[in-house]
Amino acid sequence: MLNIVVGIKWVPNTTLVNIDPRTGTLIREGISSIVNPHDLVAVEMALRLKNEYGGTVTVITMSPPSAIAGLEHVIGMGADRGILVSDRAFAGADTLATSYALAKTMERLDYNLIVFGQETIDSSTAHIGAQVASWLKIPYIYYVTEARYIEDRNIIRVKRALENAYETYELELPALISVAMHSLNPRRVSIYNKLRVKLESPIETWSNEILGLEKNCIGLKGSPTALAKIEMIPKVLRKNEVFKGNDVKKAARWLVKKLLEEGLIEI
Ligand SMILES: Cc1cc2nc3c(=O)[nH]c(=O)nc-3n(C[C@H](O)[C@H](O)[C@H](O)COP(=O)(O)OP(=O)(O)OC[C@H]3O[C@@H](n4cnc5c(N)ncnc54)[C@H](O)[C@@H]3O)c2cc1C
Repeated sequence: MLNIVVGIKWVPNTTLVNIDPRTGTLIREGISSIVNPHDLVAVEMALRLKNEYGGTVTVITMSPPSAIAGLEHVIGMGADRGILVSDRAFAGADTLATSYALAKTMERLDYNLIVFGQETIDSSTAHIGAQVASWLKIPYIYYVTEARYIEDRNIIRVKRALENAYETYELELPALISVAMHSLNPRRVSIYNKLRVKLESPIETWSNEILGLEKNCIGLKGSPTALAKIEMIPKVLRKNEVFKGNDVKKAARWLVKKLLEEGLIEI
């Protein structure tokens, strides 16, 4: 049986986010949030494993309370339990402080597999999986596209995608895997699932009163990294001129002529 914990992040929909050029910070006002799309792929893998081998899927997010909507979303997909880790003491956490709080939360759960997404769309460090595994001292593998549970050996056999090859690994449980983005299609939300959990076991909120974490290890105090500045890369305005045909010599001559005309190269 697999007792799976999945980490999801409630992120601003970055396709709508802009940077304030004066302060260099994200303009979050009026921007809706969504479950990090790569985490929906992780939830999908966890649900498929649960359906095949039995067990439970618990989903955790460390976030302000608005992320309850994200937990409800994945419960609608079929997860059994949702835990919001939320406290003002966690604010300003970098990846180290975030992974510490997540690992300490997970330690309190009866799990044998942790599943994360590949990375987030708002910070994309891909730090959290490796750091949580390191806090918990459990094996970790990244870019997983397939997983099978081999119960009698207490291992999970995973396929990992490289640029031009697949690798197969066997990890002793408990273990942590990060699922490669786009490797599975997340299922739709069922209203029945959402209602069932709302009535039977509503989402739990765990504050630092429950977790009792050392103040110097969480939030800003536990964060050795500081974001100094964000700069937007200026958008290149494209002319969308395309050479038609498959004569390479002609294409090269056409390109050189264009670059000369634009003053981008000199002969
Ligand atoms: C100095 C500094 C200050 C910061 N202050 C803030 C702040 O005040 N508020 C703020 O919102 N962010 C803040 N951040 C960003 C925050 O540290 C990261 O968003 C967070 O640690 C997760 O890292 P990531 O998004 O790069 O996740 P990645 O490492 O790219 O995520 C990998 C996977 O880990 C899991 N995961 C990631 N985050 C969570 C989470 N929170 N809960 C559960 N699972 C998760 C998901 O499965 C995800 O796919 C700050 C960062 C720095 C460096």
